[in-house]
Amino acid sequence: METRTTGLATRGIDPLDGAAVRADFPLLAAPPEPGTARVAFLDSAASSQKPAAVIEAMDAFYRRDNANIHRGVYKLSERATAAYEAARHTVADFIGAASARECIFVRNTTEAINLVAQTWGRRELRAGDLAVLTVMEHHSNLVPWQLVAAETGAELAFVRMTPDGRLDLDHLDTLLARGPKLVAFSHVSNALGTIHPAEEITRRAKAAGAAVLIDAAQSVPHVPVNVAALGCDFLALSGHKMLGPLGSGVLWGRFDLLDGLPPFMGGGSMIRRVELSGSTWADVPARFEAGTPAVADAVGLGAAVEYLSALGMDRVRTHERELLAYAVGALAEVPGLRTFGPTDLDQRSGVISFELGDIHPHDVAAILDEEGVAVRAGHHCCQPLMRELGVVATSRASFYVYNDREDVDRLVAALHRANRVFAIG
Ligand code: PLP
Repeated sequence: METRTTGLATRGIDPLDGAAVRADFPLLAAPPEPGTARVAFLDSAASSQKPAAVIEAMDAFYRRDNANIHRGVYKLSERATAAYEAARHTVADFIGAASARECIFVRNTTEAINLVAQTWGRRELRAGDLAVLTVMEHHSNLVPWQLVAAETGAELAFVRMTPDGRLDLDHLDTLLARGPKLVAFSHVSNALGTIHPAEEITRRAKAAGAAVLIDAAQSVPHVPVNVAALGCDFLALSGHKMLGPLGSGVLWGRFDLLDGLPPFMGGGSMIRRVELSGSTWADVPARFEAGTPAVADAVGLGAAVEYLSALGMDRVRTHERELLAYAVGALAEVPGLRTFGPTDLDQRSGVISFELGDIHPHDVAAILDEEGVAVRAGHHCCQPLMRELGVVATSRASFYVYNDREDVDRLVAALHRANRVFAIG
C-alpha cells in the first residue's frame, strides 16, 4: 500500500493555523446540520477526530487490500499483511523503537497495560513485592495492577501529588528507597494536563532497580516521545487519541523483556506448534496478537502517524502550548471560574480542567453543548485524583491540532452564558 500523507505536508499549510488543519477533518470542517454552527471540539483528550487521510487509508484497505493476514499465500493476503506490517514500522519509527518487533498492536492503552500486568506482572510480582504507581493515574493504569496485586500479594504504593497537580518527586524517592519491582506512571495527566518529568522519573526508578511502564495515552499524541530517550521498559498508547481509528493502540516493550514473557491470550496466530498436550509460542510480536487483528485499524493508525509526522510533533506542541496560554488568559476573565493543574504552562499539555462556581460540571457541559462547544465533564476515570483535589468531577477542555483561538473564544462566551443561566456573573 502506498504511503499516504495527504494534508499539511503536501499542501504546505501552516500547522499553527488550526482552521486550516480543520479543513482536513470532515467531521469538523462542516456544521453537523445546515444552519448550525460547526462544533468547537474540545474533547480530544477523550478521543480525537480523524483526518480524511486516515478515513481514506482505511477505506482504501477495505476496497483494495482486504484479506486475513499472515496465513494467506495469495496476493491479496500478502498485500494486507504488508499494509499491516508497514503500519507497525511507521509507529515504531514515530516513537523511536529499536525495532518494529517491539510494537504490539492492541485495542487501546487499557489493553496494553493489562497485557503487561497479566504477563510481566503475574510472573514478576510476588507477595511482599512493591509496585509504585501515582495518585494521579487513569483507572486503566491502576485497576490492572490492583487485580495483579490481589492475586500475587504484591503491595501497591502511590506517589503523592502537590496541590497544583504535579508529582511529589521527594515522595517518589522515599518509595524508591523501598526497592520496588515496578514503577508505572502516566507521562501526561488526562485530568490536569500535567506533563510529568518522565525521563527523570524513569532514571530514578531504574537506578532503584525497578522496571518502568509509562502510560503515554496523553503524551504521544501531543508531545515528541522517544522510548530510547525515556529509557523505560514498556510504553502504552491509544491510536484513537492521536487521530487514528477507535480500537487501535500499541504496546511498546523492550525486545529482550517481551521475548521472555508468556502469552497474554491464547488462540490462532500466537503459536509455533500445537499438540493436544500443549503448545509452544510464536516469536514476538505475534505471540501477543492472538486471533485475527484489526488490520484496517492498524493501517489507519499508520496513516494517522504519518499525518502527525508531516505536521511535526514539535509544531503540534507549540500550537497547543500557544492555545493553552491564550485560553488560560481568556478564562481568567470568567467570573467564578477556577482551574486545576500547574500554573507553569511549560508543565501542562493542552488540557484545562475547571469548575464554574458551584454549577455542576455536567450542567456546565450541557450549556456549552447548546452552544456547539464539546467538553467533557466527570471524574475523567481518575476518581482517586478527584478526591485529592476535593471535588467529585471537573469540566475539561482539551485542545488538539485542529483547534484555534476561535474555539477558545466560543468556550469563553458559552461559559459566560452558563453564568447568566445560573445567575452568577
Ligand atoms: N491513560 C490515560 C492517561 C488516559 O487519558 C486514557 C484515556 O483517557 C487511558 C489511559 C485509557 O485509554 P483507552 O480508553 O484508550 O484505553
